[in-house]
Amino acid sequence: MEDKSKKRKLFFALKILAIFALFSAIGYGGYAFYQTHNELQAVKQRSATEKTRSEAKISMLEKNIAAMETELGRKDAENTDLSQTLMSEKDKNTLFESQIQAIGGTVGKLTKLSQTDKELLQKYSKVYFLNEHYVPENLTVIDPKYVFEKNKTAQFHAKAYPYLVQMLEAATSTNPIQIISAYRSFGDQTLLKANYVVTYGSGANKFSADQGYSEHQLGTTMDLTTPTLGLAFIKFDGSDAYNWLTENAYRYGFILSYPKQNTYFQYEPWHWRFVGVDLAAKLHNNGQFFYDLPAREIDSYLISIF
Ligand SMILES: [Zn+2]
Repeated sequence: MEDKSKKRKLFFALKILAIFALFSAIGYGGYAFYQTHNELQAVKQRSATEKTRSEAKISMLEKNIAAMETELGRKDAENTDLSQTLMSEKDKNTLFESQIQAIGGTVGKLTKLSQTDKELLQKYSKVYFLNEHYVPENLTVIDPKYVFEKNKTAQFHAKAYPYLVQMLEAATSTNPIQIISAYRSFGDQTLLKANYVVTYGSGANKFSADQGYSEHQLGTTMDLTTPTLGLAFIKFDGSDAYNWLTENAYRYGFILSYPKQNTYFQYEPWHWRFVGVDLAAKLHNNGQFFYDLPAREIDSYLISIF
């Protein structure tokens, strides 16, 4: 009996223990579950927070990028503006340069014009003649082979001389032409006039001193003859040399100052003057006389005389 009771008590105690253990286990399990759940929640919370933060960061970065793109676009536009400004400035500079060059060209022409002796294309008369002190800027001695009187030194305007030589050389083979007289100073002219008066009497005025007076003092004018005619150059008209000159002298810039039928002076077939190729060609092509042309028109040829 006692044993049975003991066993029952023991069994009961074991049962209680088992139940307690069971409850303890359930309790611990519940606790553990609760803890785990909480931890999971916390992790989830942290992840969510982290995600929100990352999204905020991404959004901020995106905004930054957008702002930078806007800025970049603005800078591009600025650069475009700047390069356009630069180009237009360059264009302006090019324009200025060409304007300066044009001005330089004009100045060059004006300088050349201002340095060209205006007397070279003047119309002279019995009332308008060169100053007695006038001397050409540069005279050169004419090669004696072109001069009829070999013992006389003849001079010519240095800048016009090459044209004279070319003309005389071109005529040499068929119609040799020689120079009787070229540059004459005021003093020479006075002396010559006196001699002519002595030789020919008052008729000397008709073919010498008064007419070609100033033109010979210029240094660009000469009286021509042929080796055959020599000093009898007043018969130059009708010679082959004269005919050749009327057809060709203009090519070298020479004109007959007083042609037949001119209304200015008497006819002087031997007296030729350098006026430049342009003007001589114009006169030849239009059948005009130098002394009939208005001074204003003649002046426009001064720049191209040499
Ligand atoms: Zn003359």
